[in-house]
Amino acid sequence: MTEIKDHSGLSGFPSEIFAPLNTDELIDFLKKYPDSNFRIGAGLSGVSAAAVPLENEIFIDFSNFKSLSWIDKKEGVFSAAAGNTMFEIKNFVESEGWHFPVLPGSMHKATIGGLIACNGGGPYSLRYGKIGNFIRALDIVTVDGDVLKFGSVCKKLSEGPDFSKLFIGSEGSLGFLTKAVLHCIRMPEIELYRIAHASFSELAATVSTFLKYNPLYLEMAEPDALRFSSGAKKSVIWLGLEKGSSFDKNNYTKFEISALSPDKISERFDIGLNLQQYKKFIDLDISFPLNKSVELLSALKNLLNLHGLESAFFGHAGDGNWHIHIFYDNENPFNAEISAAFDELLYSHGGHISGEHGIGRIHKQRFVEFKDNHYKALYLALKAHLDPKNQLPSIF
Ligand SMILES: Cc1cc2nc3c(=O)[nH]c(=O)nc-3n(C[C@H](O)[C@H](O)[C@H](O)COP(=O)(O)OP(=O)(O)OC[C@H]3O[C@@H](n4cnc5c(N)ncnc54)[C@H](O)[C@@H]3O)c2cc1C
Repeated sequence: MTEIKDHSGLSGFPSEIFAPLNTDELIDFLKKYPDSNFRIGAGLSGVSAAAVPLENEIFIDFSNFKSLSWIDKKEGVFSAAAGNTMFEIKNFVESEGWHFPVLPGSMHKATIGGLIACNGGGPYSLRYGKIGNFIRALDIVTVDGDVLKFGSVCKKLSEGPDFSKLFIGSEGSLGFLTKAVLHCIRMPEIELYRIAHASFSELAATVSTFLKYNPLYLEMAEPDALRFSSGAKKSVIWLGLEKGSSFDKNNYTKFEISALSPDKISERFDIGLNLQQYKKFIDLDISFPLNKSVELLSALKNLLNLHGLESAFFGHAGDGNWHIHIFYDNENPFNAEISAAFDELLYSHGGHISGEHGIGRIHKQRFVEFKDNHYKALYLALKAHLDPKNQLPSIF
C-alpha cells in the first residue's frame, strides 16, 4: 500500500492509485469503475488535506497530466493541462516575455489544477488578484466520464452565469479539472524594500499606508516566523514596488529600510518551507479586513501565548491574508476550545477561515459551522447534478 500525504500532517492509504497522462486515459479508467469513490491529487503541496485519500477511495494522481501550448502568443493566451506546475507555467510564459503572476511559495510542486481547485493566490495577488482572474476557459471531466467545457478563449463573454467559476475552490469535489485556458500579463520591473521594526504592531499599522504606491506585493513576518529563515529579531515587511515609483523612504524614518535585489526575498518564502520539519502544526490561513490587522493579530497572538502555544505569523499582509502556524504536542494541545476561541476572535473582526489554502479535511468542521443554509443548498444541488452518487468527497 502506498501512503499519500500532503503538507497538512495527515496521510492516507488509498485502495488504488491511477495516474492518467491525458483525458482519454482518465475517461477510460472512470468508465471501468462506475461505482468507486475517488480522491483527486496532484502536487500534494496542499496544507488542508483535501487531497489525502481515505481507504475506500481510488487516488487519481494528476502529477503527470501535463501539456502546455500557446493559443495566441501575441495576446498572451495559452492552455495548460491540470498537472503542469506553476513553475513550469512560469518558465513557459517567460520564455516569450510574458508573466503569469499567480506564483505560490510552493510553485515547484503546486499544479494549476490544484491551484484552481483551492482558489489559490500568492504574493502578486495583491495587485493582480487570485487565479480566477486569469482563467478564460476550463475543461472538466465528470465522474461519469463526460467532458464539460466552460468559458471560451474569447476575452469577453456575457452569456448567462459564468459556470467556469464554480470550479474555483471546488477542492476536487465536483469533477476532474483537466485543462485551463489562461492569459498572462506583462509585469513591470520591481524594486524590493525590506522594512523592519522592533514593534510588530507599529509595523503592521503601516501596511495600508503603502497601498497608495500600488505595490506588486506586500509581505510581512514576525520574529517567531523569521526564526525559520534569517533569524531576524525584528518584524519585517517586504514591499515590492514598480521600478521608478514615487516611494519616499524619508516618510518612514522610524523604520529600518533597505533596498534589496528582488531575488532576495527568500527570507520570506523560506519560512513556509523550513517550518515544515519543526513540529506538528496546524496552518490557519486567515483572511480579514485590512483595517483590523493590528487589533486582530495582536488578540490572536495573545490567545496563543496564554495557552503556551508556539506560533509563527507571516503572510500576504497587504491582502489581509496571514498564514498562522500553530505548533502543538501532547503537553500543549491545540484543542477544540482554543480553536473555537480563535475563530470567535476571527469572526468578530469580520474575518474568514481561509484566504487561499482551502478547507480540506482539516478545516471541514470549522467551515460547516460558518456557512449558511443557502450556500449549502446551492452547493449540494450542484453536487447532485455533477456527482449524483457522491463518488467524490464533499466539502459539506
Ligand atoms: C511551503 C508552501 C507554500 C505555499 N504557498 C502558497 C501560496 O503562496 N499561495 C497559495 O495559494 N497556496 C500556497 N500553498 C498551498 C498549496 O501549494 C496550494 O493549495 C496549491 O494550490 C495546491 O496544489 P497541488 O497541485 O499541490 O494540489 P494538491 O495538494 O495535490 O490538491 C489540493 C486540492 O486540489 C484538488 N485537485 C488537485 N488537482 C485537481 C484536478 N486536476 N481536478 C480537480 N481537483 C484537483 C485536490 O482534490 C485537493 O482538493 C503553499 C503550500 C506550501 C507547503
